Amino acid sequence: MPCSLAILTVQRSSTRQRIYDTFVLREYFVAYPKNQIVTLPVHTDNTAPLNEYRDGFPQTSQRYRLEIGWRCQNCGVDLSHPSHHKYLHTHHLNGQKYDDRAENYKALCIRCHAEEPMHAHLKNSPNYKDFMRIWPRLPASGV
Ligand SMILES: [Zn+2]
Ligand SMILES: [Zn+2]
Repeated sequence: MPCSLAILTVQRSSTRQRIYDTFVLREYFVAYPKNQIVTLPVHTDNTAPLNEYRDGFPQTSQRYRLEIGWRCQNCGVDLSHPSHHKYLHTHHLNGQKYDDRAENYKALCIRCHAEEPMHAHLKNSPNYKDFMRIWPRLPASGV
């Protein structure tokens, strides 16, 4: 190994060692706040191009929830009473609202739906708050 390259290698590794020795995770996160590391989607639910509900979505969604018996496919809560239908949402598994294939659907109560990634905004809706009050008294139908 040529002499100069050997020196360079030693210098490099000692620099690396110093960085390693002095690295403090807490300081790293102060210097680089978490919200700068996490890659956020470019678009929100409202601005994403082509991610719109299809025209027939209300009908397809209605039919789907009827077929699966108005039950949350996550927690099994029974929302078959007509006054409870509004608390059962048709979630698009792949996040593409225009993808209305049945295998892309999952019926979720608003409580479970709000736990899906990028769905936290649902927790601000009046329906969510109403539902959280009545949910403990609703029958679950054992999923
Ligand atoms: Zn649920
Ligand atoms: Zn959803």
